[in-house]
Amino acid sequence: MAKRLSRRRLLEILAGLPLISGLVSGAAAQAQPKMRVRPGDPAWPSDAAWDELNRQVEGRLIKVRSPLAACVGASTDPACAQVFKELKNPYFLGDEVGLTQSLGWVGAWTSRPSVYAVATKATADVVAAVNFARKNNLRIVVKGGGHSYQGTSNAADSLLVWTRHMNAIEMHDAFVGAGCAGQAEPQPAVSIEAGVYWRQAYDAVTTKGGRYVQGGGCMTVGVAGLVLGGGFGSFSKAYGMAGASLIEAEIVTADGEVRIANACSNPDLFWALKGGGGGFGVVTRVTLRTHMLPDFFGGVFATVRATSDDAHRRLIVKALEFYAQALFNSHWGEQIRFGPGFVEFSMVFQGLDRQQTEVVWKPFFDWIAASPQDFAMPAAPRIGALPAQRFWDPSFLTSIPGLVIADDRQGAPVDDIFWAGNLGEAGAVWSAYQSAWLPASLLDTDRRQSLADALFAAAKHQEVALHCNKGLAGAPADAIAAAKDTAMNPAVIDAFALVISDALGQPAYPGVPGHEPDAEAARSQFDAVNLSMNEIRKLLPRVGSYVWETDFFQPNWQDAFWGENYPRLRAIKDKYDPEGLFFLHHGVGSEDWSADGFTRVN
Ligand SMILES: Cc1cc2nc3c(=O)[nH]c(=O)nc-3n(C[C@H](O)[C@H](O)[C@H](O)COP(=O)(O)OP(=O)(O)OC[C@H]3O[C@@H](n4cnc5c(N)ncnc54)[C@H](O)[C@@H]3O)c2cc1C
Repeated sequence: MAKRLSRRRLLEILAGLPLISGLVSGAAAQAQPKMRVRPGDPAWPSDAAWDELNRQVEGRLIKVRSPLAACVGASTDPACAQVFKELKNPYFLGDEVGLTQSLGWVGAWTSRPSVYAVATKATADVVAAVNFARKNNLRIVVKGGGHSYQGTSNAADSLLVWTRHMNAIEMHDAFVGAGCAGQAEPQPAVSIEAGVYWRQAYDAVTTKGGRYVQGGGCMTVGVAGLVLGGGFGSFSKAYGMAGASLIEAEIVTADGEVRIANACSNPDLFWALKGGGGGFGVVTRVTLRTHMLPDFFGGVFATVRATSDDAHRRLIVKALEFYAQALFNSHWGEQIRFGPGFVEFSMVFQGLDRQQTEVVWKPFFDWIAASPQDFAMPAAPRIGALPAQRFWDPSFLTSIPGLVIADDRQGAPVDDIFWAGNLGEAGAVWSAYQSAWLPASLLDTDRRQSLADALFAAAKHQEVALHCNKGLAGAPADAIAAAKDTAMNPAVIDAFALVISDALGQPAYPGVPGHEPDAEAARSQFDAVNLSMNEIRKLLPRVGSYVWETDFFQPNWQDAFWGENYPRLRAIKDKYDPEGLFFLHHGVGSEDWSADGFTRVN
């Protein structure tokens, strides 16, 4: 019923006619687009229509051209060598309307520019773009930070809503959502426009504002995009998911309406925006809860190598025991990586100082040191803590060699830095990426051995990493309660970690001689990741996976991403976007569309 009413409402808006029930229902059935239009189709908008859109958005319509276009078939061009160098700079990628942070995924997708983009500055620009796409039956796509691994922020033959230039950030001491006065406690918060990436948010909230907001680990990830998928950062074990911190969003829905979604207005839509994975409209602003900063943030980095398979097995068991006993709490996040013959710790902490951290880790390092015939550490462990307010402070971070890399383009803002650890992913072409939530029960003494066996077997094929900040078991009660009130797969609540295995190649693009993706290498990498994750999946009766960090080919994706929340999400999608304007690969409702989102199949 909701679906039909919304369709009628859509037609009413389109035609500018009063609602006359019988007549409109028949017309609505006829008007339902089965195929979206592409350039060259007779129904593709005329130049005059595009000019009119450009006028409405005050000149912010862009005819998109990818910097890679000139390189296809022309690798000797020196300009192309420069382009391939720039593809390792996440800020270059973010500033290019025709590019995305990943260039593709072999056998899955290739980054393709839209035909036109609206570089939105204001909500009205978004409204104009959404109305234009709907009226002209266009494929529309939304890009913020452009970090989607699934390629869901690019589509050939489409109109792009590019939010990069919507950058306002406003701190609040006591925020109450619109319409919530008297129903909700005022709380400290920050309102962030859709184009802001996390480095900018941390700069405003932490470095300048002295507060904490839950965001992503990678500094160039988009704020709105991260929230829509649930969103984890290094300290999520303490503060929960970014999506669960959402207090309010402004969103333009498929009918072109600007809506406020919060606990009091459009609460169903509000819930779907917290981890529903996008596809419910274009979010123009999010307001997120902020927290007091702890005194310190810090990290522990250590690699332990084992001299034999037997020693490696014992090392894995010990690492799990150490995690379960000492690190399985709200202080600790990030990764324990298992590869052939080694275990590597890249752990971060909050709310401890350096001395306390050393005490926590001493028994583990003593255990390693007691068996030099079995274990070696190629370098001494690095343990560091810093005042939390300086954790994202560019002037401080650039003083530590090798920690961050700056945008090296001429005239780039000096504060535009990114973690050196994220360099490998800039411009990547993926061969495989798989993930699964691991229930905390696997850490119980009677199950730990089977987890260790699985990790040992997995590591023989391909490295796997436990992302301990991407499962909420061990988090404080308020973070867990907030997570329960989101659209995320409830498996995240009981999980102590998200296990990830992936494989990538460096920047490459089909048709660029000398820079073609290596399909053969990708195939064997894919096989290795698959074999590796199969070892882990054997332990799991039901596989849950994080929608933003998952397999493009994820089987049973509705269940894997959202579990029992999927039917509710689907109903909300049908209510707010009954014609499926906002399609994305493995997004809610995408089963009604062809893989490219152009043809309605249901
Ligand atoms: C290097 C790297 C690091 C990452 N680190 C993390 C991490 O620390 N934590 C984590 O949880 N994930 C991480 N991710 C995964 C993931 O890509 C992001 O969580 C999220 O998708 C990024 O949003 P974005 O705006 O950068 O990307 P985009 O590709 O622009 O957007 C992602 C999706 O959200 C949609 N979208 C974006 N903005 C809007 C909007 N305003 N309205 C409606 N839809 C919108 C897009 O259409 C797309 O489908 C990382 C990815 C990469 C490549």
